[in-house]
Amino acid sequence: MKNLSYESIIKEIKRRLSIVSLIEAYLSLKRSGKNFVGICPFHDDKNPSLQVSEEKGLFHCFSCGAGGDIFGFMMRYNNISFPEAIVELAKRADVPLERQYRSPAREKSIADALFRINSLTCKFYHKALLESQEGKEALNYLSARGISLEMVKEFNLGYAPSSWNTLTKLLAAKNIPLGTAEEIGLVIKRQNKDSYYDRFRGRIIFPIKDVDGKVVGFGGRTISGEEPKYINSPESEIYHKKSILYGLDRSRDYIRREKHAVVVEGYMDFLSLFYAGIRNAVATLGTSLTREHAII
Ligand SMILES: [Zn+2]
Repeated sequence: MKNLSYESIIKEIKRRLSIVSLIEAYLSLKRSGKNFVGICPFHDDKNPSLQVSEEKGLFHCFSCGAGGDIFGFMMRYNNISFPEAIVELAKRADVPLERQYRSPAREKSIADALFRINSLTCKFYHKALLESQEGKEALNYLSARGISLEMVKEFNLGYAPSSWNTLTKLLAAKNIPLGTAEEIGLVIKRQNKDSYYDRFRGRIIFPIKDVDGKVVGFGGRTISGEEPKYINSPESEIYHKKSILYGLDRSRDYIRREKHAVVVEGYMDFLSLFYAGIRNAVATLGTSLTREHAII
């Protein structure tokens, strides 16, 4: 359904816009038989090597091989992405994009805002582990399992206090919309009430990062024997479980060098290996290895 409407938008834009008029806005074209020709802007052209066919809706350079449709021309000429070309040409063709269709710039600013909230939360949990009374117990738990203070700092491990709303209050005090914090799973909305509570309580926190080291979500392990033993952030706009491997931001270079990866299941397994000097490792966090993982 989604693909259909996407395709129909593209089709409608192509139907409404003339490729000759579009390209003529950037360079001059001359009629030659049933096509148009011009100086190719994509290489140092002496003779008019660029041919444009209105009938086919395509351009092609016989010298450098550049070619494509109106979207291809816009992407190449203006050095923009395909979605950006769609937004730009939809505007010119007066084709309304669905309300929920987001421009790449808007998409990016939303993701940036979510990453900022996660980063703030990560620092808060880390501080709680190192400095709070409850955190001491969690630190003891970690050190008993061979996770040193050095590792705690290196992987920004944290602790979520056992109260129901420590993080909720902090986020509210920082003017972060709690509905947004809910989208990335940090807080949960109470049924039939306009109030929220912390998802992670009384748990050791493992920040989950993408390959660039940005926090996409969190894993929390109980230290009080509460079930379930682990809870994780839900899927969100910035956390796609099948394309994230825990630790990859730290182990990628080692994996490239060794040309293979040691795949383990959980945070603790990964950290133990890393501490033991086995650095070409990743953890799948319980999801089975997917095609997207393999491509990473
Ligand atoms: Zn060319």
